[in-house]
Amino acid sequence: MQPFTDTRDVVHYIGGQRVEGKGSTQPVYNPATGEVTRQLRLGTVEDVNDAVANAQAAFPAWADTPPLRRARIMFKFLELMKERTDELAAIITAEHGKVFSDAQGEVARGIDVIEFACGIPQLLKGDYTEQVATGLDNWTMRQPLGVVAGITPFNFPAMVPCWMFPVAIAAGNCFILKPSERDPSASLFVAELLKEAGLPDGVFNVVQGDKTAVDALIEHPDVMALSFVGSTPIAKYIYERGAHFGKRVQALGGAKNHLVVMPDADIEQAADALIGAGYGAAGERCMAISVAVLVGDVADKIVPILAERARTLKIGNGMNPESEMGPVITKEALQRIENYIQIGVDEGATLVEDGRNLKIEGHENGYFTGGTLFDNVKPNMRIYQEEIFGPVLSCVRVDDFASAVNLINEHTYGNGVSCYTSDGNVAREFGRRIQVGMVGINVPIPVPMAWHGFGGWKQSLFGDTHAYGEEGVRFYTKQKSIMQRWPASIAKGAEFAMPTAK
Ligand code: NAD
Repeated sequence: MQPFTDTRDVVHYIGGQRVEGKGSTQPVYNPATGEVTRQLRLGTVEDVNDAVANAQAAFPAWADTPPLRRARIMFKFLELMKERTDELAAIITAEHGKVFSDAQGEVARGIDVIEFACGIPQLLKGDYTEQVATGLDNWTMRQPLGVVAGITPFNFPAMVPCWMFPVAIAAGNCFILKPSERDPSASLFVAELLKEAGLPDGVFNVVQGDKTAVDALIEHPDVMALSFVGSTPIAKYIYERGAHFGKRVQALGGAKNHLVVMPDADIEQAADALIGAGYGAAGERCMAISVAVLVGDVADKIVPILAERARTLKIGNGMNPESEMGPVITKEALQRIENYIQIGVDEGATLVEDGRNLKIEGHENGYFTGGTLFDNVKPNMRIYQEEIFGPVLSCVRVDDFASAVNLINEHTYGNGVSCYTSDGNVAREFGRRIQVGMVGINVPIPVPMAWHGFGGWKQSLFGDTHAYGEEGVRFYTKQKSIMQRWPASIAKGAEFAMPTAK
């Protein structure tokens, strides 16, 4: 696959076309080379107003379009996404840095949600009760909210928007995407495929930018709901501000995901799981495993295997098919991650593998760091408590299963978790007792399928509903209940008591 090389400014997409907007620009980088590749137009309040006005104008006709016709447009979009997966994956690798095969996987998981959204006629079906009283029927229907917005993080520039807009649009809403300013190009590619699929202008819009654009969306009276995925402080901010302005909000935050290895687990399988889930995408996944909880005598067996595997990771440009791990997103992220490694050393954890100061030949200005492995990490250390969001795996040693469960349940984050064991009862107990939203048993990264919904607990999610799946359909629709009777069955005379079934 050829690398992505478009150098045009990354602009907004409003009313079915690219729009320059009135804001200033900021550079977009290729993290593998450190080079500026494009300039991004930052959205202003006027740009947001323009996008909302376009979406609002498109809403009545789109909401009136039969769900089956909306689903057919989604189906066409699904086909285009499948055909053009590699182009989109190359865009992701160019701006995010993750290896190309991982970028293809990201697109595939986004496509799953589009496929789910193709079933919207079935998902919008209401309930009907005949004869709740003589001559009186009652039914419920779900109707779209209007203009809704999604604010997305850098680490999945295609998949996370796909957690939101296919369901929102298929349900009859108009959507405004505010993608991450780090890797914004995927948003325009998707917008143009939606248009090619036959989506009417104004139904899907993109406003690029930063806090200015986000705040304008939060405050705009015609934006009915906000979906957010990103770090916990911003998730909390969006949730609180959104509620202040009377909006429906789902805000998914950060994570510190644990993987428990029980003494009866297959150690080689557990090591594979920890390496893939700890260092894949350079640890920049909200479902990355950053803590290995090693029970009983497991640590002495597995740490040497992990060390060897971390040391020999193939790190390089994500477009090189040999690479297993690419760069991290920015120079600042690189600095933050390497600072955390120093914090871990200062706190007294055992630095088994040190990924700092890695230089990749031919990519000397890229944002590369190696795989770092800590052992003897304690729960009071910052490297245990805080999200590092880089290729740093911390091993915590515990005596038994109960201590592993308590450790995880006391953590402030509760996004994903995993347990490696060959004991069915342990697996069952783990699933039942753990205070985390998404659980894997011998599965390292248990990202739920499109029809099951995605969401963490505790500081990993603010709001009542998970993303996509039936929870997503509920989030993007409101229920209406209708009671109906016809004149022939209406009794004469006003009634002053509470109506009951007669
Ligand atoms: P981020 O919170 O910095 O940014 C997310 C979005 O918020 C971006 O669009 C950004 O422009 C916007 N934003 C940033 N600062 C803002 C501010 N002060 N006010 C308003 N908007 C602001 O997150 P990121 O660095 O892009 O992504 C990484 C984070 O996302 C990690 O914490 C990761 O765990 C989390 N994440 C969570 C999930 C999940 O499902 N729970 C999924 C993916 C990523």
